Amino acid sequence: MRQRYYLKCIGCGGEYDPERILYTCPKCGDLLSCEYDYSRLPSDLRGIWGERTLSVWRYLEMLPIEDRRGEIISLGEGGTTLNRCRRLQKEFGLRNIYVKNEGENPTGSFKDRGMTVGVTRALQLNMESVICASTGNTSASLAAYAAKAGLTCIVLIPSGKVALGKLVQAIIHGARVIQVRGNFDAALRIARRLSEKHPLYLLNSLNPYRLEGQKTIAYEIVDQLGEAPDKVIVPVGNAGNISAIWKGFKELRTLGFIDNLPEMIGIQAEGAAPIAQAFRRGLDGMRPVEDPETVATAIRIGAPVNWKKAFQALKESNGFMETVSDDEILEAQSLLAAKEGLFVEPASASSIAGLRKLASSKSIDKNERVVCVVTGHGLKDPDIVLRQSPKMIEVDADLESIERIIMIG
Ligand SMILES: *Cc1c(COP(=O)(O)O)cnc(C)c1O
Ligand SMILES: [Zn+2]
Repeated sequence: MRQRYYLKCIGCGGEYDPERILYTCPKCGDLLSCEYDYSRLPSDLRGIWGERTLSVWRYLEMLPIEDRRGEIISLGEGGTTLNRCRRLQKEFGLRNIYVKNEGENPTGSFKDRGMTVGVTRALQLNMESVICASTGNTSASLAAYAAKAGLTCIVLIPSGKVALGKLVQAIIHGARVIQVRGNFDAALRIARRLSEKHPLYLLNSLNPYRLEGQKTIAYEIVDQLGEAPDKVIVPVGNAGNISAIWKGFKELRTLGFIDNLPEMIGIQAEGAAPIAQAFRRGLDGMRPVEDPETVATAIRIGAPVNWKKAFQALKESNGFMETVSDDEILEAQSLLAAKEGLFVEPASASSIAGLRKLASSKSIDKNERVVCVVTGHGLKDPDIVLRQSPKMIEVDADLESIERIIMIG
């Protein structure tokens, strides 16, 4: 009998035992996906899930982890708020805008959804060390979950290009942080090599187990809305998240929980947009960007490893890519904070910047139900805000001088 879940190559279709440690297909080298034997699911899935709180682990039966008592490494990930954004709607001339705030996760980004699954997996494989390359949030998240699991954590980060808030998280959780003189893509190439040579479990988004945790963003959106939205807008770096979310929606349709699927819209920063460029060429292959540059450091990636999965998501969902400039990203960041009380990091604000651009070009109908995923918390990168803000007023400690300022406004 087939196991409850197994690994499947997205290229040659080869199927593999989930107990093997594989990141890519041993036959053709393509990406792997985690698939399930639906005939082995309990019949009352809706009832079982309905009794659990909204979180990654509500969906245990569709995750590649056996719940051997007490082994799951959890910090309370998922269950994030889906905010209806009425003031933003008004600003953009739209009527049904929601923002899924992934900054509410334990370490402040959606990466926690993947790491709770990935680190639990590492433990069940009896690995003692985990490794990742990171633009910041992956290392912050992996460091925290590895700490909780008692695993050694090694992180490779591009020198001087990681936001301070993320760096201090990796440090305080006890990771061995190694700065690499090179960009993220170079760091990831080395992390992959190291995981092949040494017993180090790789937890970049190449890892299909990690992506399984991240697909729960789609599951939660459907639970929160009662159906799938018309469009989902996601910031794209390595393109693991947009692929994982799309997989989640497809599974929910297979399960009969939804009838319609959303269009997936990926947003990249102008200076780091290999997938958006490929989209403009008709998805004829991916040409890496040599020196990616953007204020949105979390998506400052020139050679996205999950590009093939992202292409599939775009094609199958009838979706598309859009790019936004750094100025548009920073404007969207302040707008979301000022209008909706949500403070997100620049990469996350790219989905809002994308929404604004698509609304003004009428690529979104005003009645469409749109969910923007904002991926990480604004406090991760406070410097960028201070650099933009006007100098603060300072006065003597007397009533009149303060009154004068307040009344002038
Ligand atoms: C990791 C990350 C992204 C990019 O996600 P991918 O899966 O690499 O496309 C976007 N925003 C934030 C805040 C992130 O941490
Ligand atoms: Zn293959």
